[in-house]
Order: sequence, then structure tokens, then C-alpha cells
Amino acid sequence: MIRPAVHAAMGRIQTGAPQSEDLGLLLCLVDPDEVALLHATACLVRTAYCQGRIALRALVEISSVCRNSCLYCGLNRYNRHASRYMMDEDEILHCVGEAVGQGYRTVVLQSGEDGRSAESIAHMIAQIKRKYPIAITLSLGERSYEDYQLWKRAGADRYLLRVESTDAELYRTLHTDRTLSSRLECLGNLRTLGYQVGSGIMVGVPGQTVSTIAGDIQFFCSNQFDMIGIGPFIPHAETPLAGSPRGDVLLTLNTIAVIRIATKYPWMPATTALGSLNRDYRLDGLLAGANVIMPNFTPSAYKSQYAIYPNKQSETDSAESLEYLARSVGLTIDYGRCDSLLV
Ligand code: SF4
Repeated sequence: MIRPAVHAAMGRIQTGAPQSEDLGLLLCLVDPDEVALLHATACLVRTAYCQGRIALRALVEISSVCRNSCLYCGLNRYNRHASRYMMDEDEILHCVGEAVGQGYRTVVLQSGEDGRSAESIAHMIAQIKRKYPIAITLSLGERSYEDYQLWKRAGADRYLLRVESTDAELYRTLHTDRTLSSRLECLGNLRTLGYQVGSGIMVGVPGQTVSTIAGDIQFFCSNQFDMIGIGPFIPHAETPLAGSPRGDVLLTLNTIAVIRIATKYPWMPATTALGSLNRDYRLDGLLAGANVIMPNFTPSAYKSQYAIYPNKQSETDSAESLEYLARSVGLTIDYGRCDSLLV
């Protein structure tokens, strides 16, 4: 039995300017029929605005060195037990070549804020672009406008930078020496420079409430991101948040569904974090409206060292397993660039 208030809230959040009361009601759904309706509606919206396909992005984690200190992350600079590596340009080009050889047309180069020179990154981007006809997504954290500009001119297409929280006080409690305003400035700079921009949050970080998640969703609606990544918070033993409970899976899935219905167009990954729990919930993420999978092409010698949270799923999904995953949710795999769908 679906409550009329649920039907009404789902209708209203499609207007593009959702109210926090409606968002809160839908995020907290637990009744199986109401949850099923929410997720099915998200899939209908995905089909209508993004077509019935899953975009593949090849993920290469190029460095586990980080100068930042996000309290939730196992790579924060205070974790003296973290293993650190920094791949050189040849290693990165080799990984990219492997992905291209398997048909991928997008790579995501991700790292901690490792202090690598902007010029060396620009050189690497140019080398990749010279060799391969692919889209390059960077996920290298906060840098200056000039660095972002240099990389854009070298050929970078997209940039992922999660806002983590739009609540300034919550943001402050999760980061020792960073502010929400600098994160927002970086996101604005990326947009100004013409990147396709991705953002996102973790669900379940200590101090977060349904109300703050609703605020984050309103931010996503008013800023029209090309990509939005949502994953559950998973505590890491070597961080100050070690004893905190894991983010709730259903709340994470409801958040994906609500964002899909409210924002319609973004590419949304069924995140690695969803695949790193007691079972692989990426299927559930796709059934809640996600439409991206990011198979991991980091060399196996490094994969376990990129431990932003424990037991991170790092298998490189085979083409067969991806096809099976897509078929089981009624979608097809798109190996193309899958650029922004925003109009
Ligand atoms: S989340 Fe990113 S920037 Fe923050 S500590 Fe981890 S690797 Fe560094």
C-alpha cells in the first residue's frame, strides 16, 4: 500500500526545485512497496533521460600519496600505516593502453592530493591524448585554477570532486584544514574552465542527517552536475572515525534514486563502495537509478595499497561479468565516451 504522500512527493521532486520535506520523506522510505516504487520510478527516469545503458569508465588509481587529512579516509596523511606509491607516466600509459585495448573510451585517473607537479600531469594527459582517442577524467583533489587550466588545455575532459557535504559545519568536522568554501571554489573553477564536472557525497558519515542529505540534493539540483557519485561511508580502522557505524545501504540506495528522479541527466556510478560491503550492492545501485560502472585497471601490485576504506572491491570486472550485470537489470553496456547528457 503506497501512501498518497509518497506519490505526491515523488511528483513534486521532479520539478527541479525539490523541497526538503519531500526529499526527507523519500530518503527515509523503508516499506518494501514504497521503496520498490521509488527505485522503479528512478529507473524509468533514467531510461527517459539517459537511455537504457551503462557507461563504462576504466579506473586507474595513480597514487596513494596524499597531503590532505580527510577524517574518513585511509589515505589521509596522518595514517602512518598506509602504503604509499606513485605510478610514473609509463606505468599509467600502460594501464590506459590495457583499458583501451579492451574497448574502453574513458579513463578516470584518480589519486590522493600527492603534490605531483602540474606540468608532469599535463604532460601525461597530452601523451594519453596523442596515443588514444579517449575521454580523460581526472580525480586529483583540490588544486589551483592555473593547474586545472593547464590540464584542461592539455586535453582533460572531466573532473570528479565530491563536495562531501554542503553543510559548512559538517564539512569542517570531517576535514581538519579545509573549508567548504575552498571546495566550492574549486568546483566553480572547473565549471568555468569547461570541464564536465562530477560531484557527490558519502551517505552515513558521522554528524550527517537526512536533513543535510536533503540539502546536498538541493545543491545538486541547482548546480546541474554532469556526474554524481553516491556511496556509503565505510569506516577505516586507521582513521579518527574508526569506531563509527557504516553508512546504511538502503539510505544510500534511496539517495541514488531520489537524485536520479530530481536531477534526471547525470551519469551516476554504482560506486565501488557499494561493491565493497558484505555483498556486491552495485546491482542494487543500478536498480535504484545508477548508470555507470568503473572497473579497476590499477596494477594488482598497487590495488590493495589504495585503501581509502577497508576491503575495497578491486577486481577488474571481465567483459562477460559486465554484460551479465547489465542484462540482469535490463540495460546494455555502452563502451563509448558517454559525454555529459546535460542539455
Ligand atoms: S579523500 Fe582524497 S584528499 Fe581526502 S585524504 Fe583521502 S585521498 Fe586524500
